[in-house]
Amino acid sequence: MRVFRLLLIFLLFGASSVVAQMSASSAKPAPGFSLDTIDKSVDPCVDFYQYACGNWIKQTEIPADQAMWNSFTELRDRNLDIERDILEKDAAASASRDPIDQKIGDLYGSCMDEKAVEAKGITPVKPELEAVAAVGDKSDLMRQLARLDMIGDGSLFNFYSTPDLHNAAQVIADIDQGGLTLPDRDYYIKDDQKMKEMRQHLVEYVTQLFTLAGQSPQQAGDSAQTVLRIETALANASMDRTARRDPKNRDHKMTRDEAVALAPNFHLNQYFVDEGAPNFTEINVTNPEFFKQVNGVLESETLDALKIYVSWHVLNTAAPWLSQSFVDANFKFQQALTGQKEIQARWKRCVTLVDHELGEALGERYVDVTFGAEGKQRMLKMVAALEASLSSDVQGLSWMSDETKKQAKAKLEAIGNKIGYPDKYRDYSSIVIKPDDLMGNIDRANTFESKREIAKIDKPLDRKEWGMTPPTVNAYYSPPYNEIVFPAGILQPPFFDKKMDDAVNFGGIGVVIGHELTHGFDDQGRKFDAQGNLHDWWTAEDGREFESRVSCVANEYSNFVAVDDLHVNGRLTLGENTADNGGARIALMALERMIAEDKSGKEGRNIDGYTPEQRFFLGFARVWCEKRRPEVSRTRVLTDPHSPGKFRIDGVVQNMPEFEKAWGCKAGQPMVSENACHVW
Ligand SMILES: [Zn+2]
Repeated sequence: MRVFRLLLIFLLFGASSVVAQMSASSAKPAPGFSLDTIDKSVDPCVDFYQYACGNWIKQTEIPADQAMWNSFTELRDRNLDIERDILEKDAAASASRDPIDQKIGDLYGSCMDEKAVEAKGITPVKPELEAVAAVGDKSDLMRQLARLDMIGDGSLFNFYSTPDLHNAAQVIADIDQGGLTLPDRDYYIKDDQKMKEMRQHLVEYVTQLFTLAGQSPQQAGDSAQTVLRIETALANASMDRTARRDPKNRDHKMTRDEAVALAPNFHLNQYFVDEGAPNFTEINVTNPEFFKQVNGVLESETLDALKIYVSWHVLNTAAPWLSQSFVDANFKFQQALTGQKEIQARWKRCVTLVDHELGEALGERYVDVTFGAEGKQRMLKMVAALEASLSSDVQGLSWMSDETKKQAKAKLEAIGNKIGYPDKYRDYSSIVIKPDDLMGNIDRANTFESKREIAKIDKPLDRKEWGMTPPTVNAYYSPPYNEIVFPAGILQPPFFDKKMDDAVNFGGIGVVIGHELTHGFDDQGRKFDAQGNLHDWWTAEDGREFESRVSCVANEYSNFVAVDDLHVNGRLTLGENTADNGGARIALMALERMIAEDKSGKEGRNIDGYTPEQRFFLGFARVWCEKRRPEVSRTRVLTDPHSPGKFRIDGVVQNMPEFEKAWGCKAGQPMVSENACHVW
């Protein structure tokens, strides 16, 4: 399926295409804040994460169909139950159904009809495979690639629209590196044992799918080597994740003619026409080096080899929605990356599919049953409190000049927010969804999304658009939009609990709000101005001060060991760690102000023997209590810009004198850092 471009969105938690959820009854309560998670045998000043989460860790097993378990995955699981109820009713209902209910119900129904899917075997992708096989030359293959990209089966590179880095109000065309099956270029390039094993898993998976598609074992084995060879060449041409964090490395606007000339073997003019793109004249080429190098790959590889590569991506994308043997092969490969023990139940995969394909339609129904107006009001109040905190934090910084402070204030004041769900839901009425045509439904929904994406080129930015569906348990900051966004899915316990005291809520959703606001001022976000443009508004000296302060954070997190001997990548996770630290600090400031202003004394009282500050830190930790399988730990360290839950807690509190004070810690204890880092 067509992947939503997360390039210019900073998430709260790593999104993954391979996460699964676990089920139970519909009435399952949200995982709330509780003192039962605490392990009192641990000294909070020695390891706060163990103290706050120790009992939870002891009592929690990762469900068999999960790679990791934490409040994000648990809430997603709970949301699946709610969405299933909606979809089952919609799938069963009669001709009197509302058009929205017909679409989401029939997409779900076509996915749940396992018997029909099984009977069709590989037939649903036969037309695409035959079209690739029939291609007569390399320029024809590029035309075929454009057609495949429209239905979500594209490969080799990515073509999409994006806000212009220098004029965020306007959307332009963008081409970017892509075309890999493994999660990152390092998997193809690094020579350590684990990476070699992962390449072997890929080879086995490709061999298996081509065998299922009718090749002899010998042919399929050769095909797998071809796929590995071509993807390795693409990986070598790709920019690494850490380098991609710097927006300047992705900033290469040129004329359409220049882009075409950069890599003539891509036949880009024809490609853009085949995708129905408007007749644009300017384009951003995110990584020109990739196109130059892959141009050579298109030259040196034979047409037959390239056909195998393109067919592979058709098979791989379709595999989860074909008959059981394809599904099993696909899951086995995912398992190597996640360690998940069992595939999730089909109904869960089908609910997730509807969320991917018709997310704002399902989201509208989800909001109807879950989200009240009251939630939005309380959130708006908290956002205002956090913005006030960040503003006074910035004003108080000793290392920043008045000139830069003025600019920072202007940017902060311009930050917009979206809470719960969009004002206007996406109109899917043009998509035909049939109850008995799963692959056709997916293709048509993907085509709708591709067209929508490409039609934005050369148009003003739609500021009302959302980058997440309402049930999503996550949040984001977007630099070009200069806005923070909180879908309804995250506005529930343990992030936000109407029944809990403010201290716990400020530690939960308050820190999340602070985290997203701080993204506007992290190592990437600070390079964009109030209008969302890539523009340096810092004095040179303040810029240097900032860099030395974030280096402290990068060094701190690089020392953490995530799994075996694999360290956290302090540079890859720098923006998220900066946001976690800033978010916690300003959320606590907002709480302290609330306590000071509360004349009744209610806010400042102890509850269950804990001060408000202690409950703030406990609420903060509760959100990040987490268990991961070793396989997914490894994958995440290499690909996820977020640190593991344990370090999102311990890494932050050891930088905070406020924590030391709240828990009576002493210098020299592990949670009191000698070199405490402080950016925001
Ligand atoms: Zn984030």
